[in-house]
Amino acid sequence: MKRRQAGSLHPGKLVVGLVKQALALGISIFEHTPYLTMESGKPVKIKTPDAKITATKVVFAVNAWMGQHFKEFNRHIVLVSSDMLITKPIPEQLAEIGLTHGKAIADSRIFVHYYRTTEDGRLMLGKGGNLFSYKNKMLSAFDQPSQFSGMLKTSFAAFFPTLKTSFETTWTGASDRSTTGVPFFGSLTPDNNVFYGLGYSGNGVVQSYLGGDILSSLVLELDNAWTRSAMAKGPLSTFPPEPIRYIGTQMVKHAILRKEQAEDKGQSPKWYDQQLAKFAAAAGKADK
Ligand SMILES: Cc1cc2nc3c(=O)[nH]c(=O)nc-3n(C[C@H](O)[C@H](O)[C@H](O)COP(=O)(O)OP(=O)(O)OC[C@H]3O[C@@H](n4cnc5c(N)ncnc54)[C@H](O)[C@@H]3O)c2cc1C
Repeated sequence: MKRRQAGSLHPGKLVVGLVKQALALGISIFEHTPYLTMESGKPVKIKTPDAKITATKVVFAVNAWMGQHFKEFNRHIVLVSSDMLITKPIPEQLAEIGLTHGKAIADSRIFVHYYRTTEDGRLMLGKGGNLFSYKNKMLSAFDQPSQFSGMLKTSFAAFFPTLKTSFETTWTGASDRSTTGVPFFGSLTPDNNVFYGLGYSGNGVVQSYLGGDILSSLVLELDNAWTRSAMAKGPLSTFPPEPIRYIGTQMVKHAILRKEQAEDKGQSPKWYDQQLAKFAAAAGKADK
């Protein structure tokens, strides 16, 4: 299925462009200044390793990292990795199979495969739903080479059996899956001066622009379509508590993988794998 209204972009270039725009607007950016703790009140006091900052309003847009600072969100998201690999440049081989267009392509699995080519003739392939974190801990394995490289290479060989290539690198990143698969926004304090947005569920590149509209409307205390939307009412439902959630995600994940392996081989999945796979709906993921 081709979606004409869809597109893809280079995330590094997007970040550079955003930084340029922010600086042009007179915004100060402080990198390598991690938030440590917050004292709510008027003003809000934020502690970083080298400074204490006071602010009339604060926005937390730290996505998958939110749960480790604010435990209240731990029932509302599940941290799960998406893992990627990228080939060395192979422009001639890609041209031979007609894969030079850079379009973003995904299959329809619950744990989606996705791939695209780059301008310098590489092929990137990724797959979601691999490493789940107990209690949403930001594991040291996140933002590292992927421990699922074997699985990714098997998928790569199945998708592109004619390509002969070695791989430049692999990567694991954390996504914060919400119960609806849609992000949520709101205020953290009774003073209504600390705001948050998270739960992009692995689809936040464009959606975080919409998140920006919602967050700026909340900060400016506007009464508009953004602040009245269901997304601005905070998390709408919860996942089960630990350890049930972790055990449950492992059971559902392995059932889905077994089901997909059976389907790949043209076999009928086992009845209990089909039933367990349906529980992915609890994380806004409909089984196909
Ligand atoms: C492998 C992978 C593939 C993906 N593919 C897609 C895709 O194809 N399309 C799509 O739409 N989305 C995709 N996503 C999801 C997308 O990247 C996110 O939804 C999006 O980046 C969310 O934007 P954000 O600005 O809210 O958070 P992020 O881009 O995650 O930024 C949060 C920032 O907060 C910083 N931070 C964390 N803790 C602190 C702290 N204590 N103090 C200060 N800063 C802190 C982090 O360093 C980070 O820079 C993918 C994610 C992964 C992991």
